Amino acid sequence: MLTTLKRIVQEVNQIPDLDDALRCLADRLKEAMKVDSCSIYLADYDNQNFVLMATEGLAKDAIGKVNIGFSEGLIGLIGQREEPLNISDARSHPRFKHYPEVKEEKYHAFLGAPLIHQRKVLGVLTLQQKGKRRFSEDEEAFLVTLCAQLALEIVHAEARGLLSLSEDNQAPKWQKTLRGIPGSPGLSMGAGFVPDYKISLRSQVAKRSDKADQEIALYRQAVFSTRTQVDQLSDRIGDEVPEDVKAIFQIYHHLLDANSLGHEVEARIKEGWDAASSLKYVVEQYIQQFRNMSDPYMQERAVDIEDLSNRILANIIGSSPDSRALEPEQSAILVAEEVSAPMLAEFPREKLTGIISMRGSNNSHAAILARAMGVPAVMGLTDIPMSLLDGKFILLDGYSGEVIVSPSSSIKREFSALVSEEKQLSEKIELQAALPTVTQDSCAMSLFINAGLSAELESSHFKQGEGVGLYRTEIPFMLRERFPSEQEQYVLYKNMLEANPTKQITMRTLDVGGDKPLPYFPINEENPFLGWRGIRIALDHPEIFLVQIRAMLRASIGLENLQIMLPMISSVSEAKEAGRLIRQAFHEVSEEARESNQLLVMPKVGVMLEVPAVIYQLPQLAKCVDFFSVGSNDLTQYLLAVDRNNSRVAELYDSYHPAVLAALKQIVEQSDQLNIPVTVCGELAGEPGGAILLMAMGYRKLSMNSHNLLKVKWVVRSVSLSDAHQLLDTILGLEHPQDVKDQVNLYLESIGLGGLVRAGI
Ligand code: PEP
Ligand code: MG
Repeated sequence: MLTTLKRIVQEVNQIPDLDDALRCLADRLKEAMKVDSCSIYLADYDNQNFVLMATEGLAKDAIGKVNIGFSEGLIGLIGQREEPLNISDARSHPRFKHYPEVKEEKYHAFLGAPLIHQRKVLGVLTLQQKGKRRFSEDEEAFLVTLCAQLALEIVHAEARGLLSLSEDNQAPKWQKTLRGIPGSPGLSMGAGFVPDYKISLRSQVAKRSDKADQEIALYRQAVFSTRTQVDQLSDRIGDEVPEDVKAIFQIYHHLLDANSLGHEVEARIKEGWDAASSLKYVVEQYIQQFRNMSDPYMQERAVDIEDLSNRILANIIGSSPDSRALEPEQSAILVAEEVSAPMLAEFPREKLTGIISMRGSNNSHAAILARAMGVPAVMGLTDIPMSLLDGKFILLDGYSGEVIVSPSSSIKREFSALVSEEKQLSEKIELQAALPTVTQDSCAMSLFINAGLSAELESSHFKQGEGVGLYRTEIPFMLRERFPSEQEQYVLYKNMLEANPTKQITMRTLDVGGDKPLPYFPINEENPFLGWRGIRIALDHPEIFLVQIRAMLRASIGLENLQIMLPMISSVSEAKEAGRLIRQAFHEVSEEARESNQLLVMPKVGVMLEVPAVIYQLPQLAKCVDFFSVGSNDLTQYLLAVDRNNSRVAELYDSYHPAVLAALKQIVEQSDQLNIPVTVCGELAGEPGGAILLMAMGYRKLSMNSHNLLKVKWVVRSVSLSDAHQLLDTILGLEHPQDVKDQVNLYLESIGLGGLVRAGI
């Protein structure tokens, strides 16, 4: 049975068109279950009914025509009860309803099960037989198992079906939103453009050659030309992104070094293969190795290797780089299996309105570059054949990761309205940039930015906030191929501190592990978020921690704006141990400073509150540190026991959960009593609703993405603290996160800030 089940699921998953997939499913299932009829109904929520989509055994001309209301007949009953129905004679069941079009008079035995995905009934699958009999328990269990597996396949097939239905430019019947990972914020609309790379290793046929010397020379020349082209691309994008981001291109140079690919390719040439075949052979093995790695960062490096090798191949074949086919006629959304950094650099900037990378995450190079360039992007749109997006009109929401292909004219109109609303709002928000962040009733708030790239990039945002509330130092670590040296870190931190010496810069020590792997420091764990991450790694590797602290302290010599923050603290002893190491480094660096007649001021040291345990140890912690900063992203994850990166439970991850809000309130009240400064630096602080609630709780310092800062300032300036208190009182009694959000949105609407809610920004 298990083999049959797997075979059916796999077969259905391969079929791109929804109708074909359902037809195949009905046929295979009828045969496997040895029944007289198998039918599939899908839910149409707009019209509140189930539509017969495929059948083997009922009248085929009823397909697409029979609509069974959500509360009608046996199909409706299965949908309502969300459980299987097994009856020996359907016609004698009180809920039986006759639909003459389907011609089912001859059938009696009936087994039906719902197709449910993420609590939503997507459809109903039925088996029927002429004789009167109850289906066996085995048959029922098989159908339920199959339905549970098929629901996801149907979601995917439905999406694929939608795309092919719209080929003729008609509004598709099943308007479906495709869901990916938000890669870079913003809304964008335009035609999908899939670059047509004619030269690719994948289509290269292996050929022998006995002219080894000639082939080696050809290969070396191709590598040389590729190196020059990569340099040109890196220069081309150089004006738009900071040096740190440009470092992505260093990986390409490293791969081009003889020690990486070269030796192996040349060895293969000496075995009697031509240069192109040898390259293909070696590279395909590398790609496979990278794809098989458990570390997502390393998996993603396969894209770099493949892209680079295709470039070398183009040079071997003697094709000019221009033939790499990146020239859309008009503005377009770039769609590729995996968008690589050079591909982005190559794409004409004035025509690039958005990016869709079928693979990848928000750690991908394409996502980092897209954010630096301010282009909306959606990543990881798996299971959709890319060709179906080519040339189609696409709506892309980089805030939520949603993509709508070939939208109906009404959806397109609504989305265009959102795009212009977003634009108008941004203009309005910009106008208030220079004004103070105070509420209508004079409550002053301090807004800081969360930074993570380099001073060069962030300096443009410095003028907006009062400083940096969270500098995620791990990002420069993630973009390199080894730990950055003390000197490299010193330069980075110095630039950051000097960029605005009067503003406070809170640098968080290395917070890797969990979802943030370092390519050169692999950590393989079953349960990474509960494993070796943040301060735990730092304390186990004082040599790495001390280098970082020394670099920070050296960078702050002669300045007074550094604060050091420790991530993932779960006990007082960790804070004390880290404090001891910081003091040790301070004495060393002070000594060095004194020798050159300079002054080093001891920076304030604080801890992040992101593990629930610390909420119960605030008084003890307050004795050994200078400030607290709440990491609401991880606090939500750990309080609710929901992996923040797991899409299957994404709907349960919600910082507006009343329990999270209660914890946040408790933290600020206790911190005030203990007289210790407290900030919030998780995503919640940068959301209009979140910022209002936090302000009402008593927080006066919020740190957020620079993208959100002016928006939050605008919100703060539009509300009054007393209204915010009232709102908080109302929502604290609510049960569900959605109720909280509804109330907050209602309030925003009531004070004329509904645009923020509608534009989703
Ligand atoms: C947090 O957890 O809220 C936080 C700010 O840290 P990060 O998102 O980097 O884990
Ligand atoms: Mg965190």
